[in-house]
Amino acid sequence: LVLLAVCVTIRLAIYLSPEIPSDFMIEKEASGWNLICNIMLAMLPIVGTTGFLMLCSDVLRGKLEDAAATDYLTSLPNRRSVTQRGVQMFDEAVQSQGSFAVAVVDIDIFKSLNDRYGHEAGDRALVHVANRLRAETRANDMVARSGGEEFTVLFSDMDSARARAAAERMRVSIEQGNFWWAEQLVPITVSTGVATRRHDDKCFEDILRRADQALYRAKSAGRNRIEVA
Ligand code: GH3
Ligand code: MG
Ligand code: MG
Repeated sequence: LVLLAVCVTIRLAIYLSPEIPSDFMIEKEASGWNLICNIMLAMLPIVGTTGFLMLCSDVLRGKLEDAAATDYLTSLPNRRSVTQRGVQMFDEAVQSQGSFAVAVVDIDIFKSLNDRYGHEAGDRALVHVANRLRAETRANDMVARSGGEEFTVLFSDMDSARARAAAERMRVSIEQGNFWWAEQLVPITVSTGVATRRHDDKCFEDILRRADQALYRAKSAGRNRIEVA
């Protein structure tokens, strides 16, 4: 478009120039600029349309990438994103010899909440829990919805004691979160398994596996509690 504007301006300057004789006829004595401008004008729709389509596909690709990385209900990152970020944070922790903690948070007896209040209430409860978890984490940490009623939290630079304290803050925040549905206060609690990086860990999945096992123990021990691997 800029090139075309330049060409048209030059063409205008040529034809408005006082050096052009008064009997000048464009059909007979057209300058090269006349030809260039017409070629440019003919190309404009092609270039413009192609450019517009490229712009659209770029926007679309960005939206698809976001959709593939985000959980539509809670707007939290999904399992795919948390796995990618987990691997990245694990590698960073190995390089800097720093600490790194993972918490797997699972809503307790969520099936009965769905059965009792309905699926829509269940969905709202998931959003409620997601918001509480996000509110309790630092900007560097990541909270993701890793499965149905399960969330994964990645804590950068956090040792076992601090990770337990952070998980406890989340547990209390959810327990006291006052989730209302159809004018009823619906109790929600979560169980959490926490694991931190050990020196013999080979990959992110090693920590995640221990956090899952700790979660299983928290469930077996009566729920609404935290177990640290
Ligand atoms: P536990 O304390 O052992 O974790 O029991 P639970 O009932 O939470 O676990 P279970 O795995 O038996 O049930 C999980 C329920 O979560 C079943 C499923 O219907 C519900 N759920 C999973 N995803 C969604 C969702 O997106 N929306 C709603 N409303 N419910 C969901
Ligand atoms: Mg559950
Ligand atoms: Mg579960």
